[in-house]
Amino acid sequence: MTLKSIELNSFKSFGKKSVISFTTPITSIVGPNGSGKSNIVEAIRFVLGEQSMKSLRGKGGVDLIFKGSKGMSSANRASVSITFDNSKKIFSFTNSGLGVSLDYNEVTISREVFADGVNRYSINGAEVRLKDVVDLLASVNIGSSGHHIISQGEADRVLNASNKDRRAMIEDALGLKVYQYRIREGERKLEKTLLNMKEVQALRREIAPHLAFLKKQVQAVERSRVMREELRDLYKTYFSNEGTYIAHETNNLTHKRRVFDERILSLDERIESLQKTKTGNKEESIFIKDIREFDRVLSDIRLEKDEVARSLGRIEGMILGIERQFTRLPDTKERALSQSEMKSFIGEIESHIDDAISSGDLTHIVNILKNIKSRFTEFFSDSHKDEVPRPKLEDNRDYIELQTEKEKIIQNLEVIKEDEKKILVKIDELKQKESDLHSAERDSERVLYELMREKNEANGDLHSLVFQEDKLANIKNSFEMELSEAGVIIGREVMEYAHTKLDVFQDRGAQEDLRRKIERIKIKLEDAGSGSGGEVMKEYEDTIERDNFLAKELDDLNKSIESLRILIQDMKGTLDKEFKNGVEKINKQFQEFFSLMFGGGSAFLSVVMEHKKIRKPSEDDIETEGESEEGEGTELGFERGIEINITLPQKKVKDLHMLSGGERSLTSIALLFAISQVNPPPFLVLDETDAALDEANSRKYGNMLENLSKYSELVVVTHNRETMSRAQVLYGVTMGAEGASKLLSIRLEDASVYAK
Ligand code: ATP
Repeated sequence: MTLKSIELNSFKSFGKKSVISFTTPITSIVGPNGSGKSNIVEAIRFVLGEQSMKSLRGKGGVDLIFKGSKGMSSANRASVSITFDNSKKIFSFTNSGLGVSLDYNEVTISREVFADGVNRYSINGAEVRLKDVVDLLASVNIGSSGHHIISQGEADRVLNASNKDRRAMIEDALGLKVYQYRIREGERKLEKTLLNMKEVQALRREIAPHLAFLKKQVQAVERSRVMREELRDLYKTYFSNEGTYIAHETNNLTHKRRVFDERILSLDERIESLQKTKTGNKEESIFIKDIREFDRVLSDIRLEKDEVARSLGRIEGMILGIERQFTRLPDTKERALSQSEMKSFIGEIESHIDDAISSGDLTHIVNILKNIKSRFTEFFSDSHKDEVPRPKLEDNRDYIELQTEKEKIIQNLEVIKEDEKKILVKIDELKQKESDLHSAERDSERVLYELMREKNEANGDLHSLVFQEDKLANIKNSFEMELSEAGVIIGREVMEYAHTKLDVFQDRGAQEDLRRKIERIKIKLEDAGSGSGGEVMKEYEDTIERDNFLAKELDDLNKSIESLRILIQDMKGTLDKEFKNGVEKINKQFQEFFSLMFGGGSAFLSVVMEHKKIRKPSEDDIETEGESEEGEGTELGFERGIEINITLPQKKVKDLHMLSGGERSLTSIALLFAISQVNPPPFLVLDETDAALDEANSRKYGNMLENLSKYSELVVVTHNRETMSRAQVLYGVTMGAEGASKLLSIRLEDASVYAK
């Protein structure tokens, strides 16, 4: 037996723990009205996951819990456990089953409900979700449509149901729920995937402009990089040239400065010393003093000489007078001048001329000239008359004395002349010295002048030197600034370029051209935006990566959409096929049972297409019976339904509504049994399905029960004796004095009595 037992605890009227064991193909539950039989059927529904309170005859969880009685207190929770045999390992989960092990010979499903309506489910003691219970039961053909539990008064439920609900019932009975479930899952997945795809597409669309923007930026960064490379090369040339040039110029100017300083120093020294000697020379030279002294001596000598000359003249005059005395007497005829007279006169004149030549004094010279003139007049006027022989002059004493005197004076004069000559020589020497002295001064003056001119010239050079130095300083400044700027743009390596010394450097014009070129690139670089672009590059790569990822995901999603569609299509195909096959099989059985029940006639199910109500499938569809069949129709807007077609023997009645209560019962029993035969569930619960049957039909019903029990375990709640007689085990239910249901096993003989 697959169904082994059911245990009730405080469920409805069962205030005490009650266990029913199912050990035979047909178990019958009997008891008077209101004893609690239907509560057992509801306990089975409940533990199998029934969610509809209506079919449990309650409004809320609290209605399912034993309310208490005179002798017994109320409970705060109700629980039911159902145990199945699993020695053949017939149970399984389609999903993970939350890791619950089914590797046991029994499977027990339990459900508890609390007063606040909270439910708890467990499988073999492990707490699970409702959907796990549903999933587990589906594996043994116990569907959620409850076709295997026919409640009291529900015998003709299958007849009253809509075509659509009937179809669901049949699908459930045929074990096609799992396909439905899978199709729905697939469709839900498909929908989610489509949604994901839309999201991914939206994300890509969102990224696209940013990506385009980043791409442009990356291109700009690349352009900047190329420009920076170019700039680096230009800087290399520029800085090495500039550095070399500056070093060269610095050397050059330092050298010039040194030479210049030395030159100025030497000029200043020389000028200073010249100026010093010049101020020392300002005083009158000793030569002038000496000259003046000698001039005085000369003048004295000359006075003396004049004096002596005059004395001589007088003496000579006196001599001449004496001589004339001697000559006048006889004759005064003119005579020729004697040689000695001429000599003496010439000598005298010469001495005067010499005197004049040697004298620098103009007045003195004029005096000398006057003297010379008077001497000429004197000499030629009276002194040169040839005298007639006279008494002998040599004998004249005066004359002799005068002659002596004259000789003395001449000697003296000679001495004086000698002195004069000496003095003149001395003066000449001094004058020469003085003149030499002057010319030396003039020379040094000239040198000083020359030096001053040189210094002026040097000062002129200084201007140009300072100008050059300033210019170089400016160049150095700019160089430093350019270097630090380049350092920011290119990096510290520019320092290397600056320190690279070249053997030759390009001229300033070429450097200037280069500098301008560098400036132009710098401006372009600035326009292109600063920074190395590392961040942009990174972001671009990240974004590309993300976009690629999304593209790949989109591809994956497309693939899974495609495979989901195929899967759904396949399952729908299978479902369709299985459904048609199932309906065909059911029809065969239905016809058989129907004609057995009615002794003829015909009965069959037909598949019809009906307009469907559009409703969005939701997560808990699986948990709600009969409301989740949308989307299963083969065409959009249509769904399949099952119609029942019957013809009673010897009657023209075809409409189900026109059947009698018994006929309705028989028809639905025939159909239910037919359905169960095709894909037998492990058990069937029939709650007073036989209530409307007369004796003859009860027998037929009993026959069918026996037949059916070969495939499914049967639990029948009945007041019908015939039905009781077909059961191997009977349970009696009574409502005890304490107001709670009680269970006991009874014998068939007692059963009918017991039931009343
Ligand atoms: P019949 O043969 O007339 O169909 P039955 O044996 O099927 O009767 P049930 O319908 O199973 O009887 O039982 C109904 C009884 O259960 C009622 O007496 C009702 O008071 C009792 N009952 C229902 N719910 C509770 C509850 N929560 N606590 C206690 N008793 C309850």
